[in-house]
Amino acid sequence: MSTKISIEEMAAFCKRKGFVYPSAEIYGGLSGFFDFGHLGVELKNNLKQEWWKFHVKQREDIVGIDGSIITNPKVWQASGHAENFEDLMLTCTKCKEKIRADTFIEDNLKVAADGMKADEINKTVKENNLKCPKCKSDFEEVQEFNLMFTTNVGPKQDSSSKAYLRPETAQLMFTNFKLVTDNARLKLPFGLAQIGKAFRNEISPRDFLFRCREFEQMEIEYFIDPEQINNCPYIDEVKDHEILIYSAEMQEKKQKPKLMKIKDALKNKIIKTPWHAYWLALEYKWFLSLGASKDKFRIRQHLNKEKSHYALDTWDMEYEFPFGWKELQGMANRADFDLKQHITHSKTDLSIFDEESKQKIVPYVVAEPSLGVDRSFLVFLFDAYNDDKKRGNIVLKLHPGLAPIKLGIFPLVNKLKDETKKLYSELKQDFETIFDSSGSIGRRYARADEIGIPLCITFDFDSLKDKSVTIRSRDSTKQIRVKIENLKENITGLLNNKKLDF
Ligand code: ATP
Repeated sequence: MSTKISIEEMAAFCKRKGFVYPSAEIYGGLSGFFDFGHLGVELKNNLKQEWWKFHVKQREDIVGIDGSIITNPKVWQASGHAENFEDLMLTCTKCKEKIRADTFIEDNLKVAADGMKADEINKTVKENNLKCPKCKSDFEEVQEFNLMFTTNVGPKQDSSSKAYLRPETAQLMFTNFKLVTDNARLKLPFGLAQIGKAFRNEISPRDFLFRCREFEQMEIEYFIDPEQINNCPYIDEVKDHEILIYSAEMQEKKQKPKLMKIKDALKNKIIKTPWHAYWLALEYKWFLSLGASKDKFRIRQHLNKEKSHYALDTWDMEYEFPFGWKELQGMANRADFDLKQHITHSKTDLSIFDEESKQKIVPYVVAEPSLGVDRSFLVFLFDAYNDDKKRGNIVLKLHPGLAPIKLGIFPLVNKLKDETKKLYSELKQDFETIFDSSGSIGRRYARADEIGIPLCITFDFDSLKDKSVTIRSRDSTKQIRVKIENLKENITGLLNNKKLDF
């Protein structure tokens, strides 16, 4: 069980230990932007690598791309972002403070406000006498605010050179759809995956990494033949998985979410297609496979009013953050909306020839799992954070695959420094390792625990004679004695076994 801490405490911990800093803090930082420190960059890279391994490398039906951040602005006209990627904003009549309207209402009135129209927001604000949190004055009528960051490309700084920083990675998978499909000789059903930066000029960035203006996404567009919408060949892999489900009907009837097996959610038509059920279960499984705590996840169906007009069905995977249940991953069934938009706007045929049906088809995106790297980063940190009163220090129980540093190596006393350093140099070739010789062994273990190092090796006087060292487990604090000649093999076994409770 992890120890509960607030998002502010997590931000302070991340700064203190070298995971994440406010961007360019010496100049006062910039709201919604963060810099990752020496541990943060390793944790984030490991997280992305684990995602890529699970979703791309180990599957035969998904390939990756890496699209550009700035692209032809026509992409964003076709996708609708240039015109409609907006949030509703409240402005204070007196101090001019600007606040995102739906989250402000949700926080103050504890009602779902995602998808509320401007009229309804104005009415809700008036009826509930909601005031500016800064100066307690009234708000102006709500306004639309487009979240796209703009820039100019090339030396001509006018409207003809206007471009956008992408607000999601997804669209490049549609614009390159035909090229990748042909080059990789993909046959339906298949997916395209991408990890990369996205930028949104959020009205109210807050809650540390949860809502920033620059962040990263890991996204998949999964394409199927529309005729095969009820035929998912992978469903048996997940049908017995249990997951906490919060359907639109449960929300409307003010019921509690229910723990259900995937097969029962399908049988009762709560999740409409086996494809959607498969992807929701698989994404949950990915989090659990990396040590996230299963009780903090649920899947919530969008109410009709929050669903995009083109989406056939949308579910969010939510996580119980210290500030409430919040979206971690969106998963919409987008049908053929995006490909058709790009076919119309680019006047390019993006349909593919299906060998089986012997006809050209525009595939359906049956699920678009869209996951934030930064929100996942927080999830793994919250679930790993343990304030161990017995040890008197924090123990960051990160999964070994995610841990930024895998090994700590310590000489018992300074006299043994040179011998230990030799071993350190060898181990460093294969594992992220740190050498630490300052302070008592207890202090060094505590420092290692706090940054989540799974295994610590101590070189003592006996090591000179018996050519063995001690390996200590972060999670159980138990120790084993291992011959140096078998050390690498043992470490690999322990790290891959994922169990550190020897
Ligand atoms: P929200 O309702 O919280 O603004 P959204 O529905 O606009 O999120 P999507 O467009 O579905 O988010 O984006 C997919 C994922 O990208 C989100 O589930 C989240 O993990 C991540 N994400 C979106 N916006 C941000 C942000 N401002 N900061 C960090 N991560 C984000």
